[in-house]
Amino acid sequence: MIQDIKPHTLYNQYKDIIPENDDRAVVFDGRNVLILRNEDDTLDTPKCSDIKGEYIYILSIDETRYFLLKNAVECEKEGEVSNYIGRNSNGIDEFKFEPIKNLRQLASKEVCFALMTAWHLNTWYKDNRYCGRCGAKTVHSHKERMLHCVKCGNMIYPKIAPAIIAAVTHDDKLLLTKYAPNREYRKYALIAGFVEIGETIEETVKREVEEEVGLKIKNLTYYKSQPWGYDSNVLMGYFAELDGDESITMDTEELSKAKWFRRGELPAHNDGISLTREMIGVFEDKEKYEKIVKNY
Ligand SMILES: [Zn+2]
Repeated sequence: MIQDIKPHTLYNQYKDIIPENDDRAVVFDGRNVLILRNEDDTLDTPKCSDIKGEYIYILSIDETRYFLLKNAVECEKEGEVSNYIGRNSNGIDEFKFEPIKNLRQLASKEVCFALMTAWHLNTWYKDNRYCGRCGAKTVHSHKERMLHCVKCGNMIYPKIAPAIIAAVTHDDKLLLTKYAPNREYRKYALIAGFVEIGETIEETVKREVEEEVGLKIKNLTYYKSQPWGYDSNVLMGYFAELDGDESITMDTEELSKAKWFRRGELPAHNDGISLTREMIGVFEDKEKYEKIVKNY
């Protein structure tokens, strides 16, 4: 999965520091990020010395420190950011804004994970520049990753939205779905949905399966979790067995397809990035799957 970046390590602790020239600059504009193409065709972020401005430290991958360009966080509209970027002697022409959804194909896994996490923080910083209680401008704490309202005392911590992924199985079959056409992701996936206020994770899994495909499930087995910064999520993956009738009643607002696929005929495989695809990969391997769900 995307967070599996060994031998590299992501360090997410907040530090009250300013960048040095060789630190990496993360600059978002809309849902695009400023990148630099290396000589070996891999992608990287520019250095802080390339883009002048105010920075917030966000994270490190090993010794490489990443800083978010504050001036870009404060831009209201897509396209505005380049006006605020101070240019170095080479100009910014060697850099290019690339949609964040393309990063998985372009950048190394650790850079991709760093930028996805940076995007999560960028969203939070952007959404909380003003206090939601009194409307005053917030300031960053010097001690921790927290935005503080000096007027009313409101303390705002990063927002992470819990969501579930459900791999519904029926003997040697797995239920795969496709989102409705208005959603960006076009490939087969598993059932997914947000945890609602007042419910347990297990209740969310059961509710989402019933809402999206009209099926009852039993024997839930927790598999693994995954941070998914593109949507400010932490995802929790469950395997669950069908309980009763296998005929599907699809929610056409959420989905365009919902179908049972036999093991060996699955149209999606592990891509090494998403929890969904890793779970599909686990189901494909009968021995591995049974070890996980039945403790054989
Ligand atoms: Zn306030």
